[in-house]
Amino acid sequence: MFEITVEETFSSGHALRGYRGKCENPHGHNYRVRVALTGPRLNSIGLLYDFKQLKTIIREETERLDHQYLNDLEPFREMNPSAENLARFLFERVRDQLQHNPEGVTVRTVTVYETDITAAVYSE
Ligand SMILES: [Zn+2]
Repeated sequence: MFEITVEETFSSGHALRGYRGKCENPHGHNYRVRVALTGPRLNSIGLLYDFKQLKTIIREETERLDHQYLNDLEPFREMNPSAENLARFLFERVRDQLQHNPEGVTVRTVTVYETDITAAVYSE
């Protein structure tokens, strides 16, 4: 199997509902998102997937979150905007955009870093 990854960054505010501690108060993160795609075959020019195309998909999704207060955006009005939930949300969004891909490429993991040393990973 082959795997490729692309990273993107965005900066947003959030507050964790129900959390007892500092993170229940509004605060910001410089988030880093890492999307890994996997698949068994390469195309005719030796690529699993075009990095540029993947970057465009990720950027479209992170642009919607950039410089926003995440608690005010769907689906985070109800769902806590934790790194874990952000990872699942972005996984589903990127997967939906890959559905038309005929090469059998799938999303393997989405990792959301809240800081350099803390991250949540979602996979299915
Ligand atoms: Zn936080």
